[in-house]
Amino acid sequence: VLQITDLNKSFGGLTVTKNLSVTVTDGQIYGVIGPNGAGKSTLFNQISGYIKPDSGQIMFYGKNIVGKPPHQLCHEGIGRTFQIVKPFGSRTVLYNVAVGAFARTNSRSEALRRAEQVVAMVGLESRKDVLAKNLTIVDRKRLEVAKALATQPKLLLLDEVLAGLTPSEVDEAVELIKSIRSAGVTIVMIEHVMRAVMALCDRVLVINYGEPIAEGTPHEVTQNPQVISAYLGDDHHA
Ligand code: ATP
Ligand code: MG
Repeated sequence: VLQITDLNKSFGGLTVTKNLSVTVTDGQIYGVIGPNGAGKSTLFNQISGYIKPDSGQIMFYGKNIVGKPPHQLCHEGIGRTFQIVKPFGSRTVLYNVAVGAFARTNSRSEALRRAEQVVAMVGLESRKDVLAKNLTIVDRKRLEVAKALATQPKLLLLDEVLAGLTPSEVDEAVELIKSIRSAGVTIVMIEHVMRAVMALCDRVLVINYGEPIAEGTPHEVTQNPQVISAYLGDDHHA
């Protein structure tokens, strides 16, 4: 699905992506972990077209997508959530999700039908007429996922959707992410909640200062001494 080769990006003197190569295959849940400021979100911004890499290739189903704008990549099947969610606060949940659906269809009824469907899928059915600004944190996260799903992605990029959730909310979200995968969506997820990474991810990439320092199964990377000292050494990721 996704093959990234020798990707590099700097902001001025700050290298945020360094010689990064990664392959994500169909139906995988692929994890990206690393310390704050490691360049994880910047990687998503490059895959989804918000930031242009300095060099390297990003192949999506065999086509190099570097240089394509976000709306076109969305149309081609790359959906994403944002770490900082910004829904239309004074609009309803359903309206916000329908906006996502409009990225893929010009039909109002089709967009609403799709929106109803994904609102139910993420568990927001009973809150679909609530204004987005009145949602709890977990429901804001659900809405963010629903907006991305409404664009009918083949590849879904999730940027820390579990951050700020209680343990039981994390459990529910883990089940939701499994159900999204079962629906045929390949997922790349940036996540600090290690227990969810262990439960969900087929493979994990570890980034530190923009540079890939390890790649493998969750078990392999969490046993890696370099990963432990760079990232897992402090206990707030447990
Ligand atoms: P976190 O876990 O805190 O979300 P992250 O791994 O997602 O961190 P990024 O948001 O990718 O980190 O940021 C990597 C570095 O790039 C940071 O030092 C950040 O300040 C910097 N950065 C990100 N976007 C820009 C930009 N548009 N211009 C300049 N610097 C940027
Ligand atoms: Mg980030």
